[in-house]
Amino acid sequence: MPYRGRFAPSPTGPLHQGSLAAAIASYVDARRAGGEWLVRMEDVDEPRSVPGAADEILRTLEAFGLTWDGPVVYQSQRKELYGAALERLRTSGQIYPCGCTRKEIADSSIVIAPSGEKPYPGTCRNGLPAGRKARAWRVRVPEETFMFTDRRLGRQKQNLLAEVGDFVLLRADGYFAYQLAVVVDDAEQGITDVVRGEDLLASTPRQIYLQRLLGYPEPRYQHVPVVRNPMGEKLSKQTGAAPVDSSQPAPAVAAALRFLGFDPPQGLSHAELLKWAILRR
Ligand code: GLU
Repeated sequence: MPYRGRFAPSPTGPLHQGSLAAAIASYVDARRAGGEWLVRMEDVDEPRSVPGAADEILRTLEAFGLTWDGPVVYQSQRKELYGAALERLRTSGQIYPCGCTRKEIADSSIVIAPSGEKPYPGTCRNGLPAGRKARAWRVRVPEETFMFTDRRLGRQKQNLLAEVGDFVLLRADGYFAYQLAVVVDDAEQGITDVVRGEDLLASTPRQIYLQRLLGYPEPRYQHVPVVRNPMGEKLSKQTGAAPVDSSQPAPAVAAALRFLGFDPPQGLSHAELLKWAILRR
């Protein structure tokens, strides 16, 4: 079966043990399948991207022996593709302008869904209220339960309207939303397998819905556990996660493999550890 996987970090800081584990999970899965492994810099949220972080991530991947196929693509350079996809959705009447502010949505009486999100109350769904200017563009979601089978977690379902509501594809600040960019890129790059952190599990039905609207194939999904600090927070720059030490790759690779459920032998170099994980039966 053809296999093309990808690692898609947001260049907001250096790789930490959590993002390294996500990279290794998708790399090992791709190489075990004899497939390709691409790297995509998800810098679509330009205000959040940190200058120099993308290069630092690439140098770290190299130092850890995680070699990718083909050129690295940068979302900040692919706005025409996202614009064309948005235009297709606009022409077919799937998206609408929204004038709501974040505060208005936060203050709405809609209760937070089990996904932890506050569904959009639908205020602008049937047209902008009088005197309102368009801020963002949202896609209309159906009252429908979306299902998919995660390779690790099994059957998943989510009612998009009840749990998420109509979601933003073009933000009020003019940047395209991650949900649109990731779907366009996965399709345009021919990705067959998405292996990524569990924190993105709840986004998957949104992505499957956009794939359907845009006529794209649905990749297979596998969500792996996310590394948490002792406070139970996902490792990130915001929670003060330390960068991985590129000068000592073996212990970090061994720790990432153990975290992912492998039981690697002692005393191997980082390259031998990766090879061991790829060849393990
Ligand atoms: N850029 C996203 C992140 O770093 C990952 C997106 C994905 O793998 O789909 O959280």
